[in-house]
Amino acid sequence: MAPSPTPRRSVRVRRRQEALPSGLPVEQLLLAAVAGTSDVVLVVGRDRAIRYASAPLATQFGYDPAAMVGRSLSWLVHADQEAQFDAVLTQAELRPGSSQRIEFGMWHAQERWVITEAIVTSMLDDPAVQGIVLNLRDVSDRRDLEAALRHQAFHDALTGLANRVLFTERVAHAVTTNPDEGSVAVLFCDLDGFKSVNDTQGHAIGDRLLCLVAERMARCVRASDTVARLGGDEFAVLLEGQGVAASAELIAETIFRTIAAPYMLDGREVTIGVSIGIAVTTGVGDTADGLLRNADLAMYKSKASHPHRWVHFESQMHAALLDRVQLVGELRHALARHELTVYYQPTVELADGRIVGTEALLRWHHPRRGELTPDHFVGLAEDNGLITEIGEWVLRETCRQAALWQQWAPEGSLFSMAVNVSARQLTPDLVQAVRSAVDAAGLPPAALMLEITESVLIERTGDMMALMQQLKSFGVRLALDDFGTGYSSLSYLSRFPVDCLKIDRSFVKALGSPSSETELARTILRLSESLGLATIAEGIETPAQYAALRDMGCRYGQGFIFARPLPPHGIDEMLGGRLFAHASPVPMHATYEVPRQSAVRLPR
Ligand code: C2E
Ligand code: MG
Ligand code: MG
Repeated sequence: MAPSPTPRRSVRVRRRQEALPSGLPVEQLLLAAVAGTSDVVLVVGRDRAIRYASAPLATQFGYDPAAMVGRSLSWLVHADQEAQFDAVLTQAELRPGSSQRIEFGMWHAQERWVITEAIVTSMLDDPAVQGIVLNLRDVSDRRDLEAALRHQAFHDALTGLANRVLFTERVAHAVTTNPDEGSVAVLFCDLDGFKSVNDTQGHAIGDRLLCLVAERMARCVRASDTVARLGGDEFAVLLEGQGVAASAELIAETIFRTIAAPYMLDGREVTIGVSIGIAVTTGVGDTADGLLRNADLAMYKSKASHPHRWVHFESQMHAALLDRVQLVGELRHALARHELTVYYQPTVELADGRIVGTEALLRWHHPRRGELTPDHFVGLAEDNGLITEIGEWVLRETCRQAALWQQWAPEGSLFSMAVNVSARQLTPDLVQAVRSAVDAAGLPPAALMLEITESVLIERTGDMMALMQQLKSFGVRLALDDFGTGYSSLSYLSRFPVDCLKIDRSFVKALGSPSSETELARTILRLSESLGLATIAEGIETPAQYAALRDMGCRYGQGFIFARPLPPHGIDEMLGGRLFAHASPVPMHATYEVPRQSAVRLPR
């Protein structure tokens, strides 16, 4: 309760000894001023009894002003603030002319407490007043609004959960009040599959899903724990008290199961998952930011190492994160700095070793780290939305290159250019990106083959079908990359308009020796053939693998045995301009003889 330097609406009356310009006596002027304000004005004597009460006391607090005269002021003040109020009045007595502000609960005639602001001005030594003047106003509306604004500032508007600001504050408080090791835990929860619900079913459904998730999360914890939505599809839980380190895992397990149960939205069943990172205080130098960051890091790890449900933070995760953050920053500039290039690996017709096309494989020539393969940065680019821009550049670059290599193509056939596209690129925008790359390069669309992984087809059956059909109708071909990894149901194969299967390296690895993989590879080949698809075996390294595939009737292959991914001039050298005039019945490619001096030495 600091003294108010300029009481806003207090009745400002100064002692005047001389005649006033208006000629009115001071008392009359005072009354006129009091009548002109909607505030309640009370004048209290040294005995704390009310000597005067203005008319608005009736409308604002329900009392007849005349009836209040003579009553003790303390009768109106809430017991909790009585001492404070008394101190203000004592100050007023001691310091004539002073002005103070106090907020207190005032008893309303309708039997309720009203939050009231009082400006207390001491006019005891003013002969016209000789009392302490209180300007009162009901500020409960203002307080309600303030409370609403405060709520808004600390809560997520959509779900009503605590927001990041409040959560961080609570964690900070928890860390200081529970200094022992393992007495505070933060669970960082990131939904899996939310984005695709939001993208395919609309934001209204997405919002409702988030609200349902919020309700379920809140039910997984005790009332004293804090659940927050940190933004997007990120949630967090704060647990504090003895033994929370142990209960954190149990709660993580509960959250995991609860969130994974199906949701009904607009009559449709939707399922999502959650990745959880757990960080627990160490008892040494814990901070709210540190704990949140560690839980976030552990969550990230949990996402990457599916099917782990939750992961505990470990200190070495820091270095990995810093590295990652730095790499993302550098990747943003990699395109502009011409650090990205495309290498090409020949696709070979196994019967005679002729090069029928290439697969484009992205490389990042990092100024300090050297040459980086896509495993080091494509995931980063996907997570940070950079993949679209990079992917479009790859398309332009490879189409341009493919157009150059077409000049050797014999009549009626094409040199195939396979380009990998990641799941994130598979949006309706891809069709336009492909069109403009192909058009700009003057490349026949059928020379371009887009490679997608089979998991995309399974997870996004609905929207993929339309997209693939659009691409197909434009004329580009589609291949399923890394085929055979992970999925047992192959029914989708006949439904989607794919042209080619690429048998994953893991099957090829075991070839040449009797094994279940050998049988699987044979089955994939037969399946592919029965569907009229071309088959390319990936990762052929040894003569035994090569021979086995050829004997099984696999038509095409790629692998180090023929050539590693090479820069364009490497492929130029291999092609060597030696066109092999071979009109292939498969509308896939033109074919080229592998020159004798090239890297390709075909074992027979
Ligand atoms: P992928 O499409 O399955 O490509 C084949 C990978 O196997 C390539 O790795 C290639 O260098 C490697 N490889 C080829 N022959 C052999 C062999 O005989 N033995 C072994 N051990 N490996 C062989 P790379 O270049 O590191 O690419 C890895 C993955 O990155 C690719 O797998 C592809 O999924 C992705 N990728 C490459 N370029 C792009 C791109 O431009 N965009 C996107 N979105 N992804 C790309
Ligand atoms: Mg590929
Ligand atoms: Mg592959």
